Amino acid sequence: PLTYPVDQVPWPPGTPAPYAFLVHGLVTLSGTKSRIIILNVLTNVLCTLLRHHTDSVLPALYLLSNTLTPPYSPLELGLGGSIISKAIQHVSGLTPAALKKLYVKSGDPGDVAFEAKSNVRTLVAHKPLLITGVYDSLLMIAHTKGEGATKRKQSIAEKLLVSAKGEESRYLVRTLCLNLRVGAVRLSILTALARAVVLTPPSDVADSTESLYFDSSLVSSDVTSAAQKGKKKDNPVREQLVAKWNYAEALIRRIYVQHPNYDHIVEGINSGGLNGLAGRVPLTIGIPLHPTLGSPTRSLDEIYERLNNQPFTAEFKYDGQRAQIHGKRMANGQIDVKIFSRHLEDMTSKYPDVVSLVYDIFSRSEHLSSFITDSEIVAIEPKTGVLRSFQELSNRARKDVTLGDIKISVCVYLFDLMYLNDKPFLEHPFRERRERLRECFPPFVPEDSRFARLDHVDSCESTTGREAIEEFWQRAVESSSEGLMIKLLDNTEVEATDGAEKEKGRKKPLPATYEPDKRTSAWLKLKKDYVESVGDSLDLVPVGAWYGNGRKAGWWSPILLAVRDAESGRLVALCKCMSGFSDAFYKSMKAEYAEDTENCSPVPRWESEMGGFRPDMYFRPIHVWEVRGADITISPVSVASLGSASATRGLSLRFPRFIRVRDDKAIEDATSTEQLTELWRGQQRRGKGKDGEGVDD
Ligand code: ATP
Repeated sequence: PLTYPVDQVPWPPGTPAPYAFLVHGLVTLSGTKSRIIILNVLTNVLCTLLRHHTDSVLPALYLLSNTLTPPYSPLELGLGGSIISKAIQHVSGLTPAALKKLYVKSGDPGDVAFEAKSNVRTLVAHKPLLITGVYDSLLMIAHTKGEGATKRKQSIAEKLLVSAKGEESRYLVRTLCLNLRVGAVRLSILTALARAVVLTPPSDVADSTESLYFDSSLVSSDVTSAAQKGKKKDNPVREQLVAKWNYAEALIRRIYVQHPNYDHIVEGINSGGLNGLAGRVPLTIGIPLHPTLGSPTRSLDEIYERLNNQPFTAEFKYDGQRAQIHGKRMANGQIDVKIFSRHLEDMTSKYPDVVSLVYDIFSRSEHLSSFITDSEIVAIEPKTGVLRSFQELSNRARKDVTLGDIKISVCVYLFDLMYLNDKPFLEHPFRERRERLRECFPPFVPEDSRFARLDHVDSCESTTGREAIEEFWQRAVESSSEGLMIKLLDNTEVEATDGAEKEKGRKKPLPATYEPDKRTSAWLKLKKDYVESVGDSLDLVPVGAWYGNGRKAGWWSPILLAVRDAESGRLVALCKCMSGFSDAFYKSMKAEYAEDTENCSPVPRWESEMGGFRPDMYFRPIHVWEVRGADITISPVSVASLGSASATRGLSLRFPRFIRVRDDKAIEDATSTEQLTELWRGQQRRGKGKDGEGVDD
């Protein structure tokens, strides 16, 4: 798997790295599903760049993740499929008919470009593409706006394609189509970056700690698997390497989830290696951190058991939109406000009313200099204070709203505090965070319906204990909330749940700190409908469909839905869904996934595993849908979570019912195979699915 040992770097030392070097890595990545190989290839690519052309590291990270900028300030290429086709046609000289034939044969625009270009003979040799050059051209495409932009974008794409040789054409076009088809998910890229830094000599990356010099034998599968299985090897150099890797991986992942910006992380590495990196790339106002996520539960009994009867608070789970609010008083007295979605999207211009609320908060609290809070924005009837549904909130315009435009009022439920007065607050247990939150954000104008008081009950404070929690649950059931969020108040220890540890009766720590990007067991959600159905609703991606019959003729029905493979990031078909849709929804789906558009293909074009499902049409994965089902079953057709419940059969969802589109979630937020397996296990623990029950034939 090691593409280029460092002592044989395939380009003149000190000069920019060729794009072909990265593409060589991409070719290897797309040919494997092995996590070990993926990590080795990524590590070697990044390590080689760190040592021989540091300026290529950042563009390589973006090209590997098929993005151009950090997630909270996305930059779109704005290249439609037809522009890319025209560019391929121009560069290859093929007729539209010949090109169409290639599309029908392969279905993948990258493969088409590769084939189309393989017949082109050039008389003049073109300068090799560089990693930095390709990234800069992509930025240029994205920034090209205004009149004639389409033509100018096409011409930049053509220039790239003219210079692309062999496999470069394939991966260039896949990059342009935002469908790279390699199994390098964010976690692998961060892990590889950490390993690459450890393997880079201190002279290349200023690091005061002693760093190991690159030795290809140290990055063999052997070492990696030993590290993964936690086996101790006798070789002390290897042990030292594995220890350094573990430390670096945890560090870089933690930094990224608090400050998801490759530019700043690479800059931080270049200016001092891993030492003090967290201080150079800290939690920062204006840069969203990945939010903490909750784990589903099915009953209050389960909650008491999972939290080992430790003190917790139960809050209403309001049905609105999650908002991470950043506020800062600048040196000139101005107030800077940013509001980010659960998926780190900048929503500041959607909520000018919340922005003005933050101004009011600052004007009333002179000691407040900066904060980051977590909150739920909920639609409200301002006169009566009655909460309105999520659907009503989603009718609100998404961007550039002015205060005068607002027809749907909102209120804000602040439920967590992550940063206060220029200091991170993540490491404090929830009890302390909540105390400061209450202190700093009192309901200063009780009649101001924009700022709502969170309904809650503490398990420890209520004199009647469990009874009060039961009552609160009943109130949640009768209210418009989705149910309860249960939050551990203090750091604690709970019984281990994993096999060997459990048998030994070991305890494991359960922190009540704010855990960015983790589905933590210290945050449990109990939704009203969990009690009746699978432990949680699932967030699934439509990846295909069949032609509808009878009343649904002319529409897509059923729709094939997929989960996301936790390791490779690929989508895996899970179940067919044909209930919960309105006729209007069917119609809009037929338009969005029309047969002659780039969202629909008769052959599989997007990276997904279909198992035994053979839909009439395959869909571009562009949406996440919330779906509920009766239970998780073992299925002879699905290969989702293959091996977890049965060696030969995957898991599927019985009686899936569409609930709503989750615009606030990206494909990478779709339910993972790991979560699916966890839901299956939860179901088994509750005694469902025994003795063949739950097997879907
Ligand atoms: P779901 O699909 O169940 O809304 P999710 O995957 O979006 O879940 P989770 O962290 O698992 O996110 O569930 C908690 C969600 O509930 C938050 O994202 C937030 O939007 C919402 N919420 C509403 N009220 C609260 C509250 N009091 N505390 C925490 N989250 C709350």
